[in-house]
Amino acid sequence: MPKAFLLNLLLLLSLSRYTYGQQGKLFKYCNAFDKLNSQVTNGSINRNKAAHSFSSLITKIKAVYTPSTDDKWVFPLAGYSARDIGGTHGDGYNDKGYNYFDGNKHTAHPAHDIFIDDRNHDDLDDHTQLPVNVLAVADGLVLACSNTWDAESDLRGGRYIWLYHPQQNIITYYAHNRNVFVKPGDIIKRGQKIAEVGRTGFNAYKQRSPTHLHFSAFNLTGNLPVPYNPYQALTQAARL
Ligand SMILES: [Zn+2]
Repeated sequence: MPKAFLLNLLLLLSLSRYTYGQQGKLFKYCNAFDKLNSQVTNGSINRNKAAHSFSSLITKIKAVYTPSTDDKWVFPLAGYSARDIGGTHGDGYNDKGYNYFDGNKHTAHPAHDIFIDDRNHDDLDDHTQLPVNVLAVADGLVLACSNTWDAESDLRGGRYIWLYHPQQNIITYYAHNRNVFVKPGDIIKRGQKIAEVGRTGFNAYKQRSPTHLHFSAFNLTGNLPVPYNPYQALTQAARL
């Protein structure tokens, strides 16, 4: 066997082992994050302990994940635009008093609700009779998600997704989905379909609530989540 061939084979083997090792670690850290996020949501973890675990997991993920250099945004609802954001010029956003570590009991609304045309509340777009796709705004990975929610639950997010975008050092959150198509540790491309809009969540399920995506963005400050108003990024995002 030629020496060059053997060397190439060895290189390939070590590369695939590196890649596997990286993905394996990401699954491990993101599954730990997913568990932590559930504990925060249901209030079963002390806040200081939760904050410590949060920043330590982000540090570990940063160490193994190679971020893409692309930091442009795609609008998170296929076929819709910033015109469908609730309120006037993004005034539906309010982060006063909000703290991620308050979990399901949090106050304020550090988010934009983006409404779809669904007058009969069947989750489907009235014009196409099809579900509306929820898209990742940027490249990143899935930190946490849930595809289980039932009408008896008092959890507000329903079926939700948390994405981490290391190139921008931000986290985005997508709530009230009817169906979630990703799992913790998955690497996601900008514009990728991650869910379909729905009416899951304690308030979103109620008859008075028009069908919408609840979308939030957080800066990581000292590796802890601080909400910011993403209105401008949403108005400038590419539409798919
Ligand atoms: Zn909302």
